[in-house]
Amino acid sequence: MSGYAGVPRTGAPGQVKEVTSLANPVIKDIKSLALKKFRDQQNAFLAEGLKLVIDALDLGWTIKTLVFAKSALGNPLVEKVAARSVAAGALVLEVSEKVLTSVTRKDNPQTVLGVFEQKLTALRDVRLSGSDVWVALDRIRDPGNLGTVIRTADAVGAKGVLLVGDCVDPFALETVRATMGSIFAVPLVKATPDAFLAWRKEFKGLVAGTHLKGAVDYRSVRFADKPVVLLMGNESQGLPEPLAERCDVLLRIPQAGRADSLNLAVATGIMLYEVRRSALILDGVPAA
Ligand code: SAM
Repeated sequence: MSGYAGVPRTGAPGQVKEVTSLANPVIKDIKSLALKKFRDQQNAFLAEGLKLVIDALDLGWTIKTLVFAKSALGNPLVEKVAARSVAAGALVLEVSEKVLTSVTRKDNPQTVLGVFEQKLTALRDVRLSGSDVWVALDRIRDPGNLGTVIRTADAVGAKGVLLVGDCVDPFALETVRATMGSIFAVPLVKATPDAFLAWRKEFKGLVAGTHLKGAVDYRSVRFADKPVVLLMGNESQGLPEPLAERCDVLLRIPQAGRADSLNLAVATGIMLYEVRRSALILDGVPAA
């Protein structure tokens, strides 16, 4: 146990405990995080993999429990993460492969898992300036789409993602997996449609909606001189009228083939890169 700076193995927070039983109550609590009800009850969610756990700790997220495979003992990175978690007051569990597999329900699980406190930004704290971009998602349902949008928003330097209405849980395991760690880097806000529309009234920038019947080609707008909220519609229904009619512009991405629409995450990626290209600020390099 020297890798943990001599921390005693008593199982209390800030200490290390060895677990081999699937019936261990902490393991049961962690497994229950597969369901939103228990994620909300515990105000917690699960992130898998050493990289994600390191990203989260580096970005100041609060770790409640670190779980790592016995087989990872001796890996200096894992031991460092364990020591950081102990120092942060987390419970650290050294577990058997069998326990790890049961938590992740995967045959080849990651050797490190972290249980983190959920964190959301309040809508009232969302203030855009300069050429900031936020993505607003209306009732997004698919965890893979949400994770991909968060990852893409992170990649282009967007400032956050706003979840409008009844959206899939950003802290669902599939969403967190699809973000590849960007969940820890991109502020997330939840808002009802009414709250979003009230906030939108005060917002001085451009609200650019995307719509299959949009009147404006997405390449014809210059996004340079003000902040932008890019509003994307639900996977099956698109943007509802009350949201669509409050956009400053409704943009369309032209399509040539038989597909009636683009996948939501793909459309968001195209739009985000266009906003950035048009504002000439991606990496500070003017578009060619
Ligand atoms: N059946 C839905 C509809 O009628 O809008 C399709 C929704 S589409 C899968 C999900 C979202 O992606 C849309 O609401 C819109 O925000 C965006 N989107 C997809 N393809 C688009 C396109 N060609 N032009 C503009 N937005 C698009």
